[in-house]
Amino acid sequence: MKLSKLFAPTSKEAPKDAVLPSHIFLVRGGFIAQIGSGIYNYLPLGKMVLDNIRRIVKEELDKAGNQEVLLGFVTPSQLWKESGRYERFGKELLRFKDRKENEFVLGPTHEEAMVDLVRNRVKSYKELPLNLYQIHTKFRDEARPRYGLLRGREFIMKDGYSFHESVEDMQREYALMEETYGKILDRLGLTYRVVEADSGAIGGSGSKEFMVLAENGEDDIVICEGCDYAANIEAAKRAAKVIDKSDVEMTPGPFHTPGVKTIEALAEFFKISEDFLVKAVAKKAIFEDHEEIVLFFVRGSDTLQETKALSVTGALELVDATEAELEAAGLVPGYIGPDAENVTVYVDEELRDEAPMICGANREDYHYVGYDFKGKPFTYKDLITVQEGDRCAKCGGKLTLTKGIEVGHIFQLGTKYSEALGATFLDRNGKARPFVMGTYGIGVSRLVAVVIEQHHDEKGCIWTEETTPFDIMIIISNIKDEAQRTFAETLYEKLQDAGKRVLLDDRSERFGFKMSDFELFGFPKGVIVGKGLKEGKVEIVDRKTLSKTAVDTETVFDKLMES
Ligand code: ATP
Ligand code: MG
Repeated sequence: MKLSKLFAPTSKEAPKDAVLPSHIFLVRGGFIAQIGSGIYNYLPLGKMVLDNIRRIVKEELDKAGNQEVLLGFVTPSQLWKESGRYERFGKELLRFKDRKENEFVLGPTHEEAMVDLVRNRVKSYKELPLNLYQIHTKFRDEARPRYGLLRGREFIMKDGYSFHESVEDMQREYALMEETYGKILDRLGLTYRVVEADSGAIGGSGSKEFMVLAENGEDDIVICEGCDYAANIEAAKRAAKVIDKSDVEMTPGPFHTPGVKTIEALAEFFKISEDFLVKAVAKKAIFEDHEEIVLFFVRGSDTLQETKALSVTGALELVDATEAELEAAGLVPGYIGPDAENVTVYVDEELRDEAPMICGANREDYHYVGYDFKGKPFTYKDLITVQEGDRCAKCGGKLTLTKGIEVGHIFQLGTKYSEALGATFLDRNGKARPFVMGTYGIGVSRLVAVVIEQHHDEKGCIWTEETTPFDIMIIISNIKDEAQRTFAETLYEKLQDAGKRVLLDDRSERFGFKMSDFELFGFPKGVIVGKGLKEGKVEIVDRKTLSKTAVDTETVFDKLMES
């Protein structure tokens, strides 16, 4: 390809709302262009990267025995009503009607549609297992689309769904998918961790996320320094905190604590560690058909993990409760304790049997000192957020926090959707049973940006070997110099014939301008054909290090073929 013909409008200006390198460089480099909030066009260079990623994903999945299909992007609402997700999915699901008043959704994910494809078509255990995937557009009306391709509203996902006769077989496939996703990310040249995850709105039991480590990541992940334990903060567990109680004595009873309403104030008031305080977090839980106040209790030195909290309630959403709402529920803000009446209470697992503690007395200006959880029949759940320095539940090692970008997610789904949609097969005993399912997603368009989040410098993109649109860019320093032009064009033809993907910068622009485009585009190698040609020399530029090496014109072809 000749750059004079390539539609790659580069720019010095970054989009106004762009803060992340991937967003800035992909737009400035003419890879993508925004057309609406969270919706992007791919220009030729962006499409080449996208196709490279797509190809790698497809090659590895096909090797693992998966089969590619392509489902309608527009899905009849009826299927979503059958699964019960039509209401549950919330505002991210774009619902609309056609001219005949039929209701549809733009698929944000395709469990329903895929189960519908398989039900009544796969009838016997003999046709199992089956793993079908597509690489297709998704739409999620995200509340805050941002960061370019990282969080779009319209984006491209690889979503796969597997069907099995047993949980064991599904788990075998789940392990195979974990391995396959690893191969894909290795080929893309990414550094990542597989972490334990919350299963979210999709439902099901076990799930793991593939997190690319990046300082700009939106996800907090917990990693053990001592073993392979890694988890999303939303799902991370720790070994129960060990509290030294040797110096602590309390005489049980109510205590007058006027105006002392926060954990900090309480710790100060009693001159005691926050470990001995009980923190109340009141939320309004929004269910499909009603709202109610729910109380969560954790140790004063801990914070409530909102995703864990949401999942124990089974609500659609948790929002902060106002003081007025708390009072209406008969609660005393600032003095709420676990023995509150007429509200749902969840207590953190680590407070089971814990004593002595100080908690709210559910009475204005009073706390209860010497509270004992022993024998208290609360619902105990893991509710806390793991903190830097906590101990690993697996090996006792130190847990640390780091940032990641989720690029893939695999789920052990079970029979949730096959049951809801009545998708069954005849098992070995001739009995009808719902398919046991797994589901597996990769953010294909997000990966375009993720490669750049992990590989860039202050000048621009640095594509990895398998993602780059071109292997080599040949830059003619002075387009008016016929010798330079002839040499560059001959080298260009020869490299292309040898299978290299080459871009020839034949534009009549200043050399400096061309170099800054080379840096912005980020192809692995550049060749500068310039003044040195008279002495039989050209230069090879390494994009990663930006180091230049003078090479003889006779050997430059071989040198470029080596790398
Ligand atoms: P996130 O937590 O980042 O919102 P998710 O958990 O909702 O993602 P999944 O439903 O697991 O996403 O979707 C599978 C994959 O699709 C994700 O791992 C991610 O790579 C990609 N993805 C999800 N939402 C978006 C988005 N808005 N823009 C681009 N890619 C996305
Ligand atoms: Mg996910």
